[in-house]
Parts: sequence; C-alpha cells; structure tokens
Amino acid sequence: MSRVTAQLAEVQAPLSAESLRADFPSLATRVHDKPLAYLDNAASTQRPQAVMDALTEYEVEMHANVHRGVHARSDKATAAFEGARERARAWLNAASGDELVFTRGATESINLVARCLDHRMDSGSEILLTGMEHHSNIVPWQQLCQRTGARLKVAPVLDSGALDLDAFRGLVTPGLGLIAVTHVSNAMGVINPVDDICRMARQAGVPVLIDGAQAAGHVPLDVQELGCDFYAFSGHKMYAPTGIGALYARAPWLDDLPPFLGGGEMILEVRFDGTTYNTPPHKFEAGTPNIAGAIALGAAMDYLAGHGLARLAALEHELLEYATGRLLDVPGLRIIGTASPKSAVISFVIDGIHPHDLGTVLDHEGVAIRAGHHCAMPLMDRFGLPGTARASFAFYNTLEEVDRLVSGIGTARKLFA
Ligand code: PMP
Repeated sequence: MSRVTAQLAEVQAPLSAESLRADFPSLATRVHDKPLAYLDNAASTQRPQAVMDALTEYEVEMHANVHRGVHARSDKATAAFEGARERARAWLNAASGDELVFTRGATESINLVARCLDHRMDSGSEILLTGMEHHSNIVPWQQLCQRTGARLKVAPVLDSGALDLDAFRGLVTPGLGLIAVTHVSNAMGVINPVDDICRMARQAGVPVLIDGAQAAGHVPLDVQELGCDFYAFSGHKMYAPTGIGALYARAPWLDDLPPFLGGGEMILEVRFDGTTYNTPPHKFEAGTPNIAGAIALGAAMDYLAGHGLARLAALEHELLEYATGRLLDVPGLRIIGTASPKSAVISFVIDGIHPHDLGTVLDHEGVAIRAGHHCAMPLMDRFGLPGTARASFAFYNTLEEVDRLVSGIGTARKLFA
C-alpha cells in the first residue's frame, strides 16, 4: 500500500468513541468512586490532550506579549496568536481574518455588538429575538433597549420546540434594527433554520446576529454562504479552554461600528486632544488578549478538523437517536424539544422527580448532567416548567454511558416517583 493510500485509508477508517476517548485524559477520572460519564457537554466540553499540549508549548516556548514586541519570543507568540485567528477564519469560512475578533466567549461577543449598535438605534427601533434564546442573547438587547428606547419583538416557539417560522416571517419587517437568533437551542438541542432566517433578513434588508455557542463545535459552518452579519461562539463548548471565544462580523460592520472597550492595542495614536483607532479586528481587542486561550482554541479546531467535523457529528447523532429511544421507554418521562433537526442535547422531565434531585442521584452514579433553567427562563415559562434535566453528548460519549444514564434514572424513580 502506498503512503498516500495508507493515509487515505486511515482518514476514512470509521471513528469510534472508544478510540477518541483516549485523547481526553479527564474522561478516565472517577466520580464518587464510579467511572465518570460526562453528559454535560452543552455546558462545557472536556479538552483533548492536544489542546493541553498547545497550552504548555505556548507557556514554555513563546509566552510574551503580542504585537508590540521587539524580541523573538514576542514574535513567536504573535505568529501563533495570529495563526489561531486564521484557524478561526477557516473554521467559519470567513472572507478575511480581519473579520474575527477574539473575545472571552459568546456572551462577550453578543455584548460587544449590542454595545456598539447604540448609535443605530432609537425609540423607533425594534430587535427580533426568538422565545428559545439563552439569557446571553436576551439581556444585552434589553440593556440596549434601556439605553436607546428600542423595543424587543419575540418570535414564538411551537410545542415541538421548533421556532414558529411562519410567525417569525411575519415579524421580519423592513426597518427592523436587528435579528438575533440562536443557531442551536442550548435548552432543547433544536437546530434553527438559520439559512432561511438569513434569507428572509437579506430580503428585508435587516442585519442578523447568530448565537453559535451550541453550534460551532458540532455543525459545519460557512458564514459567507449563510450570509449572516455576526456570528458569536465560545471556545469552551468546542474543546478549548474557558475565557476565549470569538465574534465574526462582516468587514463593513467592523469598519463602521465604534470601538467596544478602550485601551492599548485598539489605538493608532493617542493624544490628550483625541485618539485614532486601530484597524479591525484590533480596534475591538483592547488590552492584552487571552493569547494562550486563542492558541488553544486554534489547537481545538485543528483537532476537530483532523478527525472531520461531519464524522464526529455522525457519532453524536447516533448517541442522540439511541438515547432518545431509551429515554422514551422510561415511564413518566417527557422530552422537551422533539422537533428535528436536533443536536445531541436531550432535555426532559419525569413525573414526580425534581430535575435537581435527579441530577444529584445521577451524580452519585458518576453520571454528570445539567438540571435547571439552562439560562433560558423565558423558554421554561413557555413550557410551564421551572426547569428540566438535560443530557448533552459529545462524540466521546458511548452507548454504555447512555445505558448508565437510563439506569440512574431508574434508581431515582425508585427513590422519588
Ligand atoms: N448562547 C448559548 C446558546 C449558550 O448555550 C451559551 C452557554 N450556555 C451562551 C450563549 C453563553 O456562552 P458563554 O457562557 O460561553 O459566553
């Protein structure tokens, strides 16, 4: 077999969770003396060794401040930092790396846009959201409304958890200030038709921000094809560390918007009688950035790209289908968010068991899930629930871990139901 054929065979070999798990040392740890079954990936994913190695390499080989240095370590750090920006550009297929601003995560990315849009909003402006948004894609817009007098409009969610697209269409009127929607619902896993949404927005001449926190590590992305104006995401939900993320913004926006924070890095010249700003993306990156985080985010993207995001997503889909089937067999269990397509997130309630009690019982079995309102209180209100239990999967989870989830639910039912 030639080297190329061998490499191709390797690339096309089916992936298995078992082999991928070896890349994630934290998955081999124990909780309450049981093997960890980590099913809280929508809150934050675990890191592969490759990401930790990139962090260590950065610290040892190149840590220094970026952009301003006149020495070799700073040059090395700058090259690695800007290399990470190029990886983020490629990840989203943005036209230029200058359209990628590093932030602390999706929350900061959305706040950046909300803060910088003040000058375009007034008491006649309206912003369209959906009923399934994370608080990060609600509160910054409420604050914008308080500052400018603008108003929020909210598109409803159907009983299946799908966005009511007909109602949404009716709310997309020319003159709308902005549409801000989540790509994937963190509380239900439902994937929104962002292509249709962007098409509607373009026809009406309305800018669109997409909250991609739950999508960026699971769904192949192409912001040029999508035609969105802004795309926000967090590194820690895609196998990189916390405290790093990015905002994609189409170039004309970054030229037009005023800066977010002021300080070093974002300026060209500072005098007491006035300051000129740096060019994007630096205009929006005041202060010393999270250099290590950005480099590690680049390493996480390399890891995912190396395995092929579509192949990893196929593993997650298999887990979703298997877990949905098994959970639906549990008496008294109801899944919130049954629409398709879905990412590998399952929210559910069980008659007679509070989600927090369930979470505690499962934790003692070594199974980590999330319980509560998932920072989506308006969505919980829509379903008349204080909260749900949520199991969220990554490609490194196994069918056996799903079985342990179901068995732990059985234990909780014996105790409470
Ligand atoms: N949007 C969605 C849909 C999310 O799931 C989250 C995180 N739960 C956020 C925004 C905020 O992300 P971060 O806390 O990383 O800024």
